[in-house]
Amino acid sequence: LLFSLFRKKKRRIEELTEKMALDVGSSGDWDGRWRHVQKFLERSGPFTHPDFEPSEETLQFLLETCKILVIGAGGLGCELLKNLALSGFRHIHVVDMDTIDVSNLNRQFLFRSKDVGHPKAEVAADFINSRVPGCHVPYCLILFIYFLFFCMPVVEFHIIVCGLDSIIARRWMNGMLLSLLVYDDGVLDPSSIIPLIDGGTEGFKGNARVILPGMTACIDCTLELYPPQINFPMCTIASMPRLPEHCIEYARILQWPKEKPFGDGVALDGDNPEHIHWVFQKSLERAAEFNIIGVTYRLTQGVVKRIIPAVASTNAVIAGTVPSRENTALFAYVPLNNYLVFNDVDGLYTYTFEAERKENCSACSQVPQKLQFPPSAKLQEVLEYLTENASLQMKSPAITATLEGKNKTLYLQTVASIEEKTRPNLCKTLKELGLADGQELAVADVTTPQTVLFKLNFTS
Ligand SMILES: [Zn+2]
Repeated sequence: LLFSLFRKKKRRIEELTEKMALDVGSSGDWDGRWRHVQKFLERSGPFTHPDFEPSEETLQFLLETCKILVIGAGGLGCELLKNLALSGFRHIHVVDMDTIDVSNLNRQFLFRSKDVGHPKAEVAADFINSRVPGCHVPYCLILFIYFLFFCMPVVEFHIIVCGLDSIIARRWMNGMLLSLLVYDDGVLDPSSIIPLIDGGTEGFKGNARVILPGMTACIDCTLELYPPQINFPMCTIASMPRLPEHCIEYARILQWPKEKPFGDGVALDGDNPEHIHWVFQKSLERAAEFNIIGVTYRLTQGVVKRIIPAVASTNAVIAGTVPSRENTALFAYVPLNNYLVFNDVDGLYTYTFEAERKENCSACSQVPQKLQFPPSAKLQEVLEYLTENASLQMKSPAITATLEGKNKTLYLQTVASIEEKTRPNLCKTLKELGLADGQELAVADVTTPQTVLFKLNFTS
């Protein structure tokens, strides 16, 4: 009896496989393939957008026309790509500049051990292309090169989805989309808006947001929400440690280069267990000296590698919120308004609020930015303000001004020869530099593709 059941089952599977192979056809579609998406697009419901008319055309648009750019193919990116591809989006472009590390494999499921060392974007695109029939996923490794030289300009995308761990890249993309907005007599042309859907996770916490550039709060409007990167002050590390992290940093930054435990010129490799073990031992000694508890091998590894703990389930939840709901939602449903937070550190918490636009946002407000300094302030102070102010958080600002009709670079950090030449300006006062009250300063930075204009206001 069992044997005949088994044979029947086997035949049934063969029949089904044959049927699927026949039905797939050239478009890669089989009967009922998009039934789950059709339920959303071909009927209305209590949550559909008031302007939405259910029709079969929306699915065709989604399958054939809609182009999506996914930035980031890491933990969140893998989930996003899978969700998008399985919910009918076929023209998905992916950008990521990272290569695959062995520690990614537990959650970045588009990668296998044979892929270690290969570019994430390439492997992820190949995986989706071979696994999901009909999908066409081109890839690129560097974001701005993508727009400069690659197959299409950013305006051709219908939606941009970000699953990044870099705030700089997020801000750059945000600035890019803002620069594409078209204003007619000060009125925003809605057809120039490309929605940006942004997801982020850190450990058990995550967020997802919908940004309609020029209409809703942009990344820079809410910049204060991103915590500053933790770097411990050198004096604390060197002379008055209080935390286990301080001890680890002491071993990493000061003892390693001095003692050269693995020979001259050998850099500390976070993936080398012997290296980590050495730092761990030194940190323990340091901790014992100052009666600090809590130095562990795991913490040592975390501090050395700057590991933000990654939790696969958080990525899945956030990615689930982002595309299947939001992308379909942009066409059919009232979209998320506009910032969702998720936290399952202790129990489960989720909340959605409307992040507000900042009136004087340096990225999206069109309001000239003010710099208030006394004429006796040094350029160094201006530089510090630009990098440290919570709502600016620039990385390596280059400052130029028009003086006596000529464009003059006051300070530029990214090119060593110019940095050297302009460095003396940092110690000069604004007055000594010839800057006047009301002077415009143009500031370029990696956080934005556009130059930000500041107006200098002298205070007494
Ligand atoms: Zn803004």
